Amino acid sequence: MEQLICIGCGVEIQTEDKQKEGYAPPSSLEKEEVICQRCFRLRNYNEIAPVSLTADDFLKILHSIGEKDALIVKMVDIFDFNGSWIDGLHRFVGKQPILLIANKVDVLPKVVNRNRLIHWMRAEAKRLGLKPVDVALISAHTGEGVEEAMELIEQHRKQKDVYVVGTTNVGKSTFINKIIETATGEGEVITTSHFPGTTLGLVEIPLADGQYMIDTPGVINDHQIVHYLNPKELSLTLPKKELKPKVYQLNEQQTIFIGGFARFDFEQGSRNAFTFYVSNQIPLHRTKLENADELYDNHKGKMLAPPSIETLEAMPPFTKYQYSIKEPTDIVISGLGWITVQQPNVVVSVHAPKGIAVLVRPSII
Ligand code: GDP
Repeated sequence: MEQLICIGCGVEIQTEDKQKEGYAPPSSLEKEEVICQRCFRLRNYNEIAPVSLTADDFLKILHSIGEKDALIVKMVDIFDFNGSWIDGLHRFVGKQPILLIANKVDVLPKVVNRNRLIHWMRAEAKRLGLKPVDVALISAHTGEGVEEAMELIEQHRKQKDVYVVGTTNVGKSTFINKIIETATGEGEVITTSHFPGTTLGLVEIPLADGQYMIDTPGVINDHQIVHYLNPKELSLTLPKKELKPKVYQLNEQQTIFIGGFARFDFEQGSRNAFTFYVSNQIPLHRTKLENADELYDNHKGKMLAPPSIETLEAMPPFTKYQYSIKEPTDIVISGLGWITVQQPNVVVSVHAPKGIAVLVRPSII
């Protein structure tokens, strides 16, 4: 029997086992374009079925790319740059050139200077041990920067295949769809969704010179907040639109809760403005530091939500990170957003679920 591939995710179609990847009902094989049941459901009902791609499988895919002669596009989510970073890519893919593309720039406020961000990306890549041939900043959604990124790909691939890699949810499929749309004028071919892990097999898209652009399954970074969330919480937490920064004038010994996800304490310093960049749908609550513990115990999952109490119980408990700020700094809570502290000489701390990365960077605004 001829091998059939799902037009949604690229997985091989099978008709025997409903529980396994790639199942499609036998009757659907008569259609011109076959789609697996999982993609069918995702498209039509927004349902999510569990995915069985492990970190090992992902490493195997990376190693197999390393044996080819190809350009690698490493995609990250600019809103969760460090959380969506794949460590040690050079080690896995050998000498292949890597083009670094950060997606979802549309969620950042317009005031964020794009050139400065690109500059920051280069420095951050270097710090994390990546030597990209180039970097680009795009929105696969709005198309911002996509043509420039396509030009960079053409310039660096030198008639070779292109593999797009990244963690789940960075927008690989959306990006490739955008390229297809730009190149052919056709609509959506690959399944994209805001649920992690919708792209299963490798999806090959022919390029004009007989080479391919290949969408790879995303690897799951366990320490990303998104993996704890149910679909409703996910959609509240992942920003879909331009973030509206929220500025708080705080006195020392005041606390801001970010939903029930995290808390920011202004411990020491003179009255000061702090700017919060998180999804517009996560409410912030101000309180006195001395009341913060009690408020959290009494109101988590209710007034301090999302997430729900059930999700919070599945998440690790809070751990505290304290910072003495000397220059304009962003404190990033991976996957949730960041807090900009403009004024030096303050001591602040962040409480966030243990295992969720909290880090500082020079302010990008
Ligand atoms: P993949 O797992 O890397 O293939 O990611 P998808 O292409 O499936 O996208 C994951 C989620 O991010 C979906 O909800 C997309 O709608 C969303 N997304 C993708 N690109 C962008 C973008 O440029 N901006 C925004 N705001 N969301 C995006």
